[in-house]
Amino acid sequence: SLTQRLSGTIERLRGRGRLTEENIRESLREVRIALLEADVALPVVQALIERIKVRAVGQEVLKSLTPGQALIKIVRDEMSAVMGSAASDLNLNVPAPAVILMAGLQGAGKTTTVAKLAKHLKEKRKKKVMVVSADVYRPAAIEQLKTLAQQVDVLFFPSSADQKPEAIVKAAIDDARKSYVDVLLVDTAGRTSIDEAMMAEIKALHAAVKPVETLFVVDSMTGQDAAVTAKHFGEALPLTGVVLTKTDGDARGGAALSVRYITQRPIKFIGTGEKPDGLDVFHPDRIASRILDMGDVLSLVEQVEQQVDKDKAQKLAEKVAKGKKFDLNDMKDQLEQMQNMGGLHGLMDKLPGMGQIPDSVKSEVTGKEVPRMVAIINSMTKKERRNPALLNGSRRARIAKGAGLTPADVNKLMKQFQQMEKMMSKLSGGGMKGLMRGMKG
Ligand code: GDP
Ligand code: MG
Repeated sequence: SLTQRLSGTIERLRGRGRLTEENIRESLREVRIALLEADVALPVVQALIERIKVRAVGQEVLKSLTPGQALIKIVRDEMSAVMGSAASDLNLNVPAPAVILMAGLQGAGKTTTVAKLAKHLKEKRKKKVMVVSADVYRPAAIEQLKTLAQQVDVLFFPSSADQKPEAIVKAAIDDARKSYVDVLLVDTAGRTSIDEAMMAEIKALHAAVKPVETLFVVDSMTGQDAAVTAKHFGEALPLTGVVLTKTDGDARGGAALSVRYITQRPIKFIGTGEKPDGLDVFHPDRIASRILDMGDVLSLVEQVEQQVDKDKAQKLAEKVAKGKKFDLNDMKDQLEQMQNMGGLHGLMDKLPGMGQIPDSVKSEVTGKEVPRMVAIINSMTKKERRNPALLNGSRRARIAKGAGLTPADVNKLMKQFQQMEKMMSKLSGGGMKGLMRGMKG
């Protein structure tokens, strides 16, 4: 990860008061490699590096940070500036039916995404949805959409290969209006690569139906090519948003940055699987952390310096670094420290790798819960705390009683313990050591 890559150059930057072109050169090279490894398109990498350099050079380094950390902060800020911060849903703010047009290469996932969006609109936004296929080149494509429409249980407007795309969609809009449909999703044909005829066709279709949303659907696994495709579609159509598909097969996340940078349009959704429920709202603020794999390390470092009992934290970090097992005593120490720092919720968001922990889990562990959790651990024996595997049903019942709580509360705590244990073993890969360096510095 970038954090690991940078730790060497960070060390070398320690103890200089100001960032200069000289002293950040090496670190910038690492940033560049990390972005390329994340599959961010080359022109986007170059533009980003330039912006980072301009911002960094001459900057004073805060006392609490090393220059390397200051640079990481700039990298993260610049990436966030590209991505924007808020998640954005579909705009349906027009007289019904709101028409949504899908555009993208063949195989990008348009038809699948139509079904996913139909399900999303129907279930999450309580809309009456109709879908139609203007893919007149492949009769199989129309059949595919029909099957999917049945699966997610939305209206399907039939079309056939001998009709013109515009005529199909106009008839569908008429029918949708008569049937009080809220949203009409229009699937289109794609070629396997950019060609003029395809662009002309989708432009004409766009002009004829005036969709409120024109979504560019792009396969995240196409990496560098995603940027090229985005450029062409962005020039041909007034895109309103992007759907990045197949993110379940791509851990790198670079395509999101490239496509966002090139189209200047929000990524509204990501595809996370082949099934109709494989769709997530995209959270742009998480992508920088994912690429950097570091969370908000900096503000954590600052908070930690002010408030945490340094010795305890250091002991824990050393333990984790040595690969010793995280136990319930450690969890208790952490909970107590977190109480001092305003709850676990705020802290968890700042830890590296925390993006993956579901919000539901995080919010369970907020301030109010912490004293109860501590009470549960307090009612365990020393042996149990060191060896959580001992905690069978009867022991859990005894502990619950001792803490004045229920066995379900104990089970919940044990789940949270397992989450933390997992996270600790992840951190021992480097994150925690980096963190400790920051704290000692
Ligand atoms: P279209 O040609 O753009 O309409 O693409 P399709 O919707 O037919 O999808 C092409 C292939 O990609 C199909 O096999 C889909 O199941 C698959 N696919 C689409 N979206 C996703 C996704 O988010 N994750 C995965 N794993 N596969 C996807
Ligand atoms: Mg299709």
